[in-house]
Amino acid sequence: MTNTVYLDHAATTPLDGEVLQKMIPYLTDVYGNADSPHAVGRKAMLAVDSARDAVAQALNAKPNEIYFTSGGTESDNWAVLGGAYAQGKKGKRHVLVSAVEHHAVLYCAERLQADGFDVEFLPVSNTGTLDVATLQRYLRKDTALVCVMAANNETGALFPTRELAAAANACGALFFADCVQLAPHMEIDVKALGADMLSISAHKFYGPKGAGVLYIKNGVKIEKHVGGGEQERGLRGGTLNVPAVVGLACALEKTKRELPARQEKMRALRAAFLRTVSVLDGLSVNGDGLPAVLNLRVAGVKNDTLLYRLDLEGVAVAAGSACASASVKPSHVLTAMGLSEKQARECVRISFGKENTEEDVVRAGEIFVNVVKTVRGEK
Ligand code: PLP
Repeated sequence: MTNTVYLDHAATTPLDGEVLQKMIPYLTDVYGNADSPHAVGRKAMLAVDSARDAVAQALNAKPNEIYFTSGGTESDNWAVLGGAYAQGKKGKRHVLVSAVEHHAVLYCAERLQADGFDVEFLPVSNTGTLDVATLQRYLRKDTALVCVMAANNETGALFPTRELAAAANACGALFFADCVQLAPHMEIDVKALGADMLSISAHKFYGPKGAGVLYIKNGVKIEKHVGGGEQERGLRGGTLNVPAVVGLACALEKTKRELPARQEKMRALRAAFLRTVSVLDGLSVNGDGLPAVLNLRVAGVKNDTLLYRLDLEGVAVAAGSACASASVKPSHVLTAMGLSEKQARECVRISFGKENTEEDVVRAGEIFVNVVKTVRGEK
């Protein structure tokens, strides 16, 4: 993998070395079950408690608002289903979901539809975002829940979470923001964002895979997610994955500390890549927001061909999101932004990370240019 230029950080990131070191004792010596009352268990619980405090502090939340999960997908499922079912018991059965949500949310929307909820999909602009006026048009007295991600995983487009949350709350609806793609790149302050629930996932910010958080604002009632154990205040049973929780907290703290430098680096990497590939005709950028995510359409070149050839040359990029990349379906995000299915199949996602150098990115850009020219028969 040493010669590979990895430009797929929106899919996942490598584990940070400092995070790994923090996790190792909990994979070896401190093996206790955090719920066991003896000293071995208490040692593990101490680590969980301090991780919960650290996560709460990083997000400007309270420790009892932090629920550890197995990642973004689980947090999203819990928020959407748990939020909607709890509201449904109060007679609210209308759910609004942006058309560009991650499949973890779209799957739940379909389940709610099958359960008789009235689910509507909020349209996005051609830059892939959603304004408050659009949300206002869809809100109703019986709206139970509004789900709009904070940053999109395919385009990096940003959403005005604070305003959207305020509009939803003013109507009596809960607001859930999937912050999985925001967390690696911007500070998350739950008070400033104003969401009732938000999700993050450690492997997107150099933490371990299979570790996530669902923040649930105090006072917000959602349904129990996993039964059979009293962990996570009785709402999400199951023995806690202590090393993962410790790693998540460490990675989140480190991300927050290094955020200004990382943001500057992402801007420089994006600019270097765009400068290098700008010799090509027929390029256009889809959406705009996070500098670390660049969704590029290469007119006339199919993304599966481009991906395959780039991979052979040692450059790793994606078409759409990681989970959708093996499928032949055009991206629902890009078609919601107004691209035709053919155009959507000409788009690739390049996402930069902290271990990339400008030199690597320029080299990847040069390979990109060569591959596109070869596919177009220009060389
Ligand atoms: N939400 C968004 C916006 C994502 O990008 C992802 C991962 O790609 C997820 C949710 C799912 O997170 P996880 O991989 O931790 O299950």
